[in-house]
Amino acid sequence: METEAEAGFRAELRDWLKETLPTLPPPPEQHDDWVAKRAYDTGWQRRLFDAGYAGTSWPKEFGGRGLTPTEELVFLEETEAAGAPYVGCNFVGTLHAGPTIGAEGNAEQKAKHLPGILKGEHVWCQGFSEPESGSDLASLRTKAVRDGDHYVVTGQKIWTSHAQVADYCEILVRTDPEAPKHKGITWLIMPMDSPGIEIRPIRTLTGVSEFSEMFLDEVRIPVENRVGDENDGWRVAMVTFSFERGTAFVSELLGSMRLSRELATIARRINRGPGGGVGAGGGTSTAWDDASIRDELAVIQAELDALWALIRRNVSRAQRGLDAGPGGSVFKLAYHETRVKMGDLAMRLLDRAGLAMGDPGGFGGDDHVEERLYALSLSIAAGTAQIQRNIIGERLLGLPRER
Ligand SMILES: Cc1cc2nc3c(=O)[nH]c(=O)nc-3n(C[C@H](O)[C@H](O)[C@H](O)COP(=O)(O)OP(=O)(O)OC[C@H]3O[C@@H](n4cnc5c(N)ncnc54)[C@H](O)[C@@H]3O)c2cc1C
Repeated sequence: METEAEAGFRAELRDWLKETLPTLPPPPEQHDDWVAKRAYDTGWQRRLFDAGYAGTSWPKEFGGRGLTPTEELVFLEETEAAGAPYVGCNFVGTLHAGPTIGAEGNAEQKAKHLPGILKGEHVWCQGFSEPESGSDLASLRTKAVRDGDHYVVTGQKIWTSHAQVADYCEILVRTDPEAPKHKGITWLIMPMDSPGIEIRPIRTLTGVSEFSEMFLDEVRIPVENRVGDENDGWRVAMVTFSFERGTAFVSELLGSMRLSRELATIARRINRGPGGGVGAGGGTSTAWDDASIRDELAVIQAELDALWALIRRNVSRAQRGLDAGPGGSVFKLAYHETRVKMGDLAMRLLDRAGLAMGDPGGFGGDDHVEERLYALSLSIAAGTAQIQRNIIGERLLGLPRER
């Protein structure tokens, strides 16, 4: 049941979105133009900030609105329903680096970085993964050697989303090579204009270079940029993951609900039967007339609804100071599986029109081929499906720990 405050916030935001969205510039035409994407995404973030809607649940002293996490969900629901821009390049800053600094940073770090993230002035990236350290992240080898009031960092990171347009990087480095692997890691803030950083974009199967390899050659990072204690970075990283796996995918889930509604519309447009075919007129029935297709869509929609209920449960527990447990892992695993199921159904519906990107069948709406390919990455990003299963097995089901 919505409180009066939540309903008031929803109504006010809805009005603002109705007024503001028609005044936005068009999104960049080129999928791979990251400079234009950055300008578009940070421009939207700035508008949110100026109107008092950036960081709905962040403290007021850092430019947030100081509302509850439930009101943050209202914000996400309304922005998605209105078709507002996605968080885009602001993903790391607003959804996990910023919240980690809010929880673990000192007063200077909060004052220096949080307003810049909320105003869309600074884009962040995440330098955690390395070529030999993904799932086993604690084995990372990028080393940081203390030299006076700096750490000198050398090594290689990979899959660094938005690195080519980022101002700062939340980076994990090894500060004590002798300590057990989880105990010799430190969480640092790396300015991306530091000398010694080389970025090499990686092209993905959807044709865009969202992430990069990042080579670090004696990059000097001030000690004051350390979040938490030296060698306590693994604990700080777990705080980052609690945000990244917990709430960072919420707006994605809402976007998926829109995709599933679009699929229902597409099913009604696809002619089947004699003289029919994908996108062709003359068929005697549509895909929607097939009860099994309607069943599949209903199951997908029900699963998405259940995931939304899970998000609300996790957020409401967090609001009452209760640990959500492995709720983030349960969410991420189930979300990925539903997205794959939805993508497979889209491909069957589109049939030959699914052989190309774009919208060759003229059905309108999102690019469901690209979305199907993108769904593959959901089993890997922010911890693979197998790793989420390990966490659920150990922490929820009480199975023996992995060695
Ligand atoms: C779209 C996308 C964006 C990303 N963005 C970033 C980013 O911005 N910054 C960043 O640092 N990283 C990023 N990553 C990297 C991501 O975090 C890693 O790819 C992920 O942690 C897996 O690591 P890996 O690729 O090295 O695979 P590996 O760890 O080598 O895993 C290979 C396979 O072995 C399985 N496996 C490994 N260990 C176990 C185990 N103990 N039990 C069972 N199975 C196991 C895995 O599940 C997987 O199937 C991104 C990845 C994607 C796909």
